[in-house]
Amino acid sequence: MPVLGEKLYDIYDEVLRRNPGETEFHQAVHEVLDSLGPVVAKHPQYADAAVIQRLCEPERQIIFRVPWVDDAGRVNINRGFRVEFNSALGPYKGGLRFHPSVYLGIVKFLGFEQIFKNALTGMPIGGGKGGSDFDPKGRSDGEVMRFCQSFMTELYRHIGEYTDVPAGDIGVGGREIGYLFGQYKRITNRYESGVLTGKGLAWGGSQVRTEATGYGTVYFVDEMLKTDGRSFDGKRVVVSGSGNVAIYAIEKVHQLGGAVVACSDSSGYVVDDKGIDLDLLKEIKQVRRGRIQEYAEARDDAQFVSARTVWGVHCDIALPSATQNELNGADALTLIKNGCQIVAEGANMPTTPDAVKLFAEAGVRFAPGKAANAGGVATSALEMQQNASRDSWTFEHTEERLAHIMRGIHDRCLQTADEYGTPGSYIAGANIAGFTQVAEAMLALGVI
Ligand code: GLU
Repeated sequence: MPVLGEKLYDIYDEVLRRNPGETEFHQAVHEVLDSLGPVVAKHPQYADAAVIQRLCEPERQIIFRVPWVDDAGRVNINRGFRVEFNSALGPYKGGLRFHPSVYLGIVKFLGFEQIFKNALTGMPIGGGKGGSDFDPKGRSDGEVMRFCQSFMTELYRHIGEYTDVPAGDIGVGGREIGYLFGQYKRITNRYESGVLTGKGLAWGGSQVRTEATGYGTVYFVDEMLKTDGRSFDGKRVVVSGSGNVAIYAIEKVHQLGGAVVACSDSSGYVVDDKGIDLDLLKEIKQVRRGRIQEYAEARDDAQFVSARTVWGVHCDIALPSATQNELNGADALTLIKNGCQIVAEGANMPTTPDAVKLFAEAGVRFAPGKAANAGGVATSALEMQQNASRDSWTFEHTEERLAHIMRGIHDRCLQTADEYGTPGSYIAGANIAGFTQVAEAMLALGVI
């Protein structure tokens, strides 16, 4: 890992000491602090008010038992989390992840990233994240519903439209948000639409929210391409994952004239040189909740490869959209050798620090998740806006707002990077612009 400045190193050391074993959280903190040297030098008031130290300590961390009964009548116990990280800019905002890998360190890394991502959107939302080690894979609808109801039976007392507004993430989509919202409504006897985002269109959801993270990532890359007069036209793109982010990233790349030739799931990847058939992929992944292998079985032109990553497939643009640390140094070297020019993170922190460094050295342009995938949470904030005004907007209007927000984030990253002496670095631009906005609010609000 790169060496931090002396003062920042002390802060990082303290984070390691206070959060033992939480390696993903350490990684996320290191990545942000590593950009802040020039900021601390320019604004001594941040150090005087211990803004960075306060930012690294969540405002509140909630851990709870989630008991539920499976279809065989057995009692299961999972662990639930909500980390309310920072509310300087607005109510805590961030998704819930249901995946067996979830523990406090994962939730803290995601919550920490969310603070800066949410600030970059320019919307009035603080940062938080939650989830459970519950594995929805292979569970019946009834089991998922009972789990969600039990999860909300504890979570409801901590959330609210002015307090904390959860949404989806890995393992939590429209179905789960529905069960969670239903239980919240039943317990509180309030139709409080703004308490959760990612709701269905019939019951307070927003147009474009489902598509927003993937679409937003592609809009961001489109802006990167435009800075040197290029476009998606004719570009070969590889997307990892085949969940919500990946599917709508593929859709938008195809709309803008590029071709996504490969995507993956945890069992391997498929290559389809003619371009991924999105209707088929949606049918397999969204309707059947099946495996990616079924795609190759249904298409003569496609091949299934059982492998750890998809990064061996030649491409101009890579969009890691599966999960954290899925693209490592070896993958980066392969992508560089094969001529990849742009990497943009659709997932949260999918690229390991050594891979990020290799991309920088090779001149591959790199967009970090907190900027490139901010379209999801930005559209959640648009959903909150519609709920607060009891309104609902058209698809066209909402998509135009999303595109405008993504252009704004892109330009702000580049301007900030210029201003702080690291021209062209989306990483420095995103970290510094996100940080200074939260830091200014924290200074104004006093030591709280
Ligand atoms: N889980 C998404 C993210 O990583 C969205 C969060 C939200 O909409 O609140 O940004």
